[in-house]
Amino acid sequence: MEHAVWNPQAECMDREALEQLQLERLQMTLNLAARNVDFYAKRFRDLALLPEDIRQLSDLTKIPFTTRDDLVRAYPYGLFAVPLRSVVQLRFAAASAEPIVVGYTRQDIRMWTELMCRAMTSAGVGRTDVIQVAFHYSQFPGAFTFNQGAEALGAMFTPAATVSASLQIRMMVDFRSTILASTPSFALNMIPALNVAGRKNDLHLRIGLFGPEGLTPKVRDLLEQGLGLKAYALYGVAEMIEPALAAECSQQRGLHLAEDHFLVEIVDPDTGSPKVLGEEGEVVVTSLSTQGYPLIRLRTGDVSRLQPGPCPCGRTLARLSPVLRRCDDALTVRGVRFYPQSLERIVREVTPDIEDVRVVVHTMHGLGDQVELLVAVPQGGSLPGTVLETMRSRVRRALGLGLRLRQVPAQRLPLAGLTYKTTILEKESPSTGLPF
Ligand SMILES: [Zn+2]
Repeated sequence: MEHAVWNPQAECMDREALEQLQLERLQMTLNLAARNVDFYAKRFRDLALLPEDIRQLSDLTKIPFTTRDDLVRAYPYGLFAVPLRSVVQLRFAAASAEPIVVGYTRQDIRMWTELMCRAMTSAGVGRTDVIQVAFHYSQFPGAFTFNQGAEALGAMFTPAATVSASLQIRMMVDFRSTILASTPSFALNMIPALNVAGRKNDLHLRIGLFGPEGLTPKVRDLLEQGLGLKAYALYGVAEMIEPALAAECSQQRGLHLAEDHFLVEIVDPDTGSPKVLGEEGEVVVTSLSTQGYPLIRLRTGDVSRLQPGPCPCGRTLARLSPVLRRCDDALTVRGVRFYPQSLERIVREVTPDIEDVRVVVHTMHGLGDQVELLVAVPQGGSLPGTVLETMRSRVRRALGLGLRLRQVPAQRLPLAGLTYKTTILEKESPSTGLPF
């Protein structure tokens, strides 16, 4: 059965009209950025280019990419296009040792809420639903937007955060929750507890909304069977809006992009040149209606492809394949994205007496579940427990992520490379939730 469409005018727009709207909004964004953001003003000056020289969408390639490093250098407010008094919400984006901050105006929040309503409606959520939002609210600030979306939809929401699996299950049963919103890994961890409690038949779940980790076909199957729901993937970009930049419809074959608010290109991660439609490459996004923090050609590091052809659901918005890998070495564990180099930098700042470092990510079904940091000291040396504790707490403070930290002799480290992944085939015990 097809699900309802929240905003048919925008989501089922004729492609030609959509591209005209995109061009108009792009020109407004370029003008806003060139006028109010020194970083972009300088770019236009250096290129001897004026915003009005971008006459068609394909002209956008004349403007260089914006990278995460550009965002870090502009911290905190260097890329804001409006005065701070017009900003109603500030968010740290993508936890890492080098933070960036994104500011949203009231209109930006309205746009984001609209996209959340579209995403939820396209997955089949309606006003009679009870939405259990099981995200860590500070690690994934996008969780708040489920609340705003649910309110706008007239549905009931219950912020469950990341309390233990047994408490989540109790809430699901007692509140008769019909929708679960969480990371795929957190939801997977509930399944053993559900089986042990023997409460699967007491659940009323219909739909799962999953992000920001990608949803692999295997994980989708496990979640659908284990929790008795239909699993839908959401996509977002932490530096813009996350989630709801793209969302799956009833077809579950690709995520419809909010193309009226964001322009998406797929480029070769090495050369930066555009890929042919349907080919895999790095996702590059330009905001089209954002006021507070407009970004032009942001390299996301996510690898995906656009799916050509119309969708039977009636939406004309292009579809993005689920994002399942990165073209850089960023890792995602329990919904938190970070770079292994930032962990190494943090521990080396605590003491210079470190010979080598390895970041080991234990994964279950390909989803990051637990991080272990192995620290090696020169032969004969040893770090005091207080130093190890300082490292652990600094990492936790920087990333908001608990981790195991072990001191090992250098010869026991895995060989070259900073990052290792191990696979956990079975959880050792029926989990009572994640060790946040
Ligand atoms: Zn569709």
